Amino acid sequence: MRLEEIKGVGKSRLETLERAGIHEIGDLILTLPSSYMDTTRTARMADAPEGECICVEGEVVRVGRPARFNGRSTVRMTVRDATGSLEIVFINQPWASEQYAAGNHAALYGRVSLMKNGARGMYCPRKVTERGILPEYRTLKEIPSKTLRNIMREALGHVDECCPETLPERIRRQWDLPDRGKALRDIHFPPDRESLDAALRRMAFEEVLYFEAGAALLRGSRREGRAFSLKAGDDDAFWGACDFPPTSAQRRVLGEIRDDMASGRAMGRLVQGDVGSGKTAVAFGAMYLAFVSGYQSAMMAPTEILARQHGESAQRILAKLGMRCEVVTGSMKASERKRVAAMAAAGEVDAVIGTHALLSGDIAFSRLGLVVCDEQHRFGVRQRGLLSSKGEGEGAQVHTLVMSATPIPRTLALILYGDLDVSVIDEMPPGRTPVRTRIVPEEKREGMLRFIRQETERGKQAYIVCPLVEENENPELRSAREEYRCLKNNGPLKDVSLGVTWGGQKEEEKQRTLSDFASGRISVLVATTVIEVGVNVPRATVMVIENAERFGLSQLHQLRGRVGRGQDESWCFLMSSPNGRLSALCRTSDGFKIAEEDLRQRGPGDFLGTRQHGQPLLPAAALGGDGRILEEAARCMEELKKEEYAPEREQILRKAEMIWAGRLDAGVLN
Ligand code: ADP
Ligand code: MG
Repeated sequence: MRLEEIKGVGKSRLETLERAGIHEIGDLILTLPSSYMDTTRTARMADAPEGECICVEGEVVRVGRPARFNGRSTVRMTVRDATGSLEIVFINQPWASEQYAAGNHAALYGRVSLMKNGARGMYCPRKVTERGILPEYRTLKEIPSKTLRNIMREALGHVDECCPETLPERIRRQWDLPDRGKALRDIHFPPDRESLDAALRRMAFEEVLYFEAGAALLRGSRREGRAFSLKAGDDDAFWGACDFPPTSAQRRVLGEIRDDMASGRAMGRLVQGDVGSGKTAVAFGAMYLAFVSGYQSAMMAPTEILARQHGESAQRILAKLGMRCEVVTGSMKASERKRVAAMAAAGEVDAVIGTHALLSGDIAFSRLGLVVCDEQHRFGVRQRGLLSSKGEGEGAQVHTLVMSATPIPRTLALILYGDLDVSVIDEMPPGRTPVRTRIVPEEKREGMLRFIRQETERGKQAYIVCPLVEENENPELRSAREEYRCLKNNGPLKDVSLGVTWGGQKEEEKQRTLSDFASGRISVLVATTVIEVGVNVPRATVMVIENAERFGLSQLHQLRGRVGRGQDESWCFLMSSPNGRLSALCRTSDGFKIAEEDLRQRGPGDFLGTRQHGQPLLPAAALGGDGRILEEAARCMEELKKEEYAPEREQILRKAEMIWAGRLDAGVLN
C-alpha cells in the first residue's frame, strides 16, 4: 500500500511528508516521536527540577497585561500550589492574558528555568488539556497533532507488512523484547509508561545492535595498510624534541600507534583523553613516525584557530626534527594555498595541518601515509574516508588516527566509533591542579563578578559562557550579547576589557576577538559554546557558565576544561540553584566518570546527538531511558560470536550491511 492511500494524506500532506524524507508508510511509522509530553504526573512547584519539562497545576495568582519589551509582547503571570510558586512568561502570546485569570485553576506543561530575576519559572508553557503520554514529532511539526495522530493510527494498521520484524525470534525471546509491530504501536500511542519503556528498549536494542554490527563489519573490512618500518627508539627521538617528558599514558598510547602502523594492516584508532591530557603531542608523535618511514601526514582540525594553534606547535616541535610543516585553511590567500598544494603534491612538505579545507580537491599528496582528525565528533565517517582516500593509489590504505576530547564510556565508544580501535590517555601531565568547581546561586552573582575583577587585576582572564546567542529562543535565559551589554554598562566588570563572540558572528570578527583574548588584550570573554572546542589560553583561570542546568554534565566538563591550563589555581562557577545533578562536577574532574554519570542520568541522547534536521542517528536510543541498553546490545553482539548463533549472526550482519550502505549513501553518517 502506498502512502497517499492513507486516509488524511492528500496532495499537500504528501508533499510535507516527502519533504521530511517520508516516502512510504514504513518511513512514516519509523518516524519516532522526538519527545513525549507526559501529563500523567504533576510535579510540586517547590521541587520541580530545573531544566526539565514537567506538568504543574495550581492557582493563578496574578496575570499581567501584555507589555511590550524589546519589540515583543510579554505577558507575565504567577501560579502557585500548596508547596510554592512559579513565574510564567509568555512571549508573543498576548492572548494569554485573556486565557488565564487570577483565582482560576491552571495546569501547565513546560521546562522549569531559573529566570533572570532569580525566580524559578516557565517560559511559554502549554496549557494542559489532555492527560496522557503524548508523543511530539519535531520533524513533522507542520502537521497539526490531531491530524498526525489520525494518519499515524491508519498507518499503524499496516505495520506488520510495512515494518517487518528485524530481530531473530531467539534473540527477542532471550532479551525479552516485544515484537516490532507492538513496539512501534506503543511508541506512537503509549498506553502507559511501562509499555512505552519496553517498546523504546526494543527499538533502541535493534538500533544499537545493527549499529554495532555495521561497525564490526567496517572494522573487518580494513584492508592492508602501509607497513611502516619502525623501531622503539623512534618514539624516544620524538619525545626528546618535546618541551616536556611524556606522561606514561602518552608514551603507552604512542606505542600502540607505532605497533598499529608497523603491523601491515591499516590503523584505525581513536585516542580519547580528557581536555589537557596532551593528545596533540601524541598526534605529532604519530606524524613523526610517518615521517621517519618516508610518508606525509595530514592533520584535520575542526576550526581555523585550532588549525593555526597546531600549526604553531608543529613549527616548534616537528620542525626541530627536520619536518617541513604547512597550514591550510579556508581563509588563506589563494596564492598561498596554491603554493602549499603544490608542495604537498610534490612531496616537498611532510605534514599539512588544516581545517575542512584539506578535503577540497586541489589538495593532493605525493605519499600520504597518515591522517589525523582532531576532535573527531565534528567529522563523520565519510569525511575521514575522503581525506584518507587522498593517500590511495598504491592499494594500501592510509593509517587513520582520531583524537577526541569527549571522554565517553566504552559502551558508547563502541557505537560512535565502532569502526575504530580505542586508546585512552588516562593520566594528566604533572602539576595540574583540578579546577575548583562551585554551584553559584543568583544572589552570589555580584560577589563572583567582584572576584573575577580581582583576578583580572592580577593579569588573569575569564570566560563567561551563555547558552544562547540572542534573546530569540527563550528571553529568560542569558544570552551572550545581552550579557556582554549588561556587564559593559554596570557592575564590577564595567571597566574591565570585555569581548563577546558567538556562533553566527562574522568569521573575521570572531577570529579577532579570540586572538585578542589569547593575547590578553581582552580580559573577560563572553561567549556561547563556540569556545567549547580548542582555544588554549593558559592565563584564563575562571569559567562562568550561565544557566548551567541547561547543559549536560559532559558538556559542562568540556567547557571547564578551557581553564586550569596553566600553573594557577582555576575556578569554574556553575550558575544555578542548588542542583544534585550538577554537584557531580564539583566532586570529580575525571571526564570518564562524569560521562558515565551523564549517561546514567540522562540516557545516551546527548551523546547520540540531536540533529538540526531530521531524526537523530539512533532515534529510539536517543529517546529512551538509560545507558543500560548499550551494554545489553554489546553483550548480545558478544554472544552472537558463538558458533551456535551462526544463523542469527549471518542474518544480522547481512542486514547491517544494507543499513550501513544506505546510511552512507543518504549522508546520514556524512
Ligand atoms: P588536549 O589533550 O586537550 O589536546 P593538549 O595537547 O592541547 O591537550 O595539551 C595541553 C597542554 O599540556 C599543552 O600546553 C601541552 O604543551 C601540555 N602538555 C602535553 N603533554 C605534556 C606533558 N607530558 N607534560 C607537560 N605538559 C604537557
Ligand atoms: Mg586538543
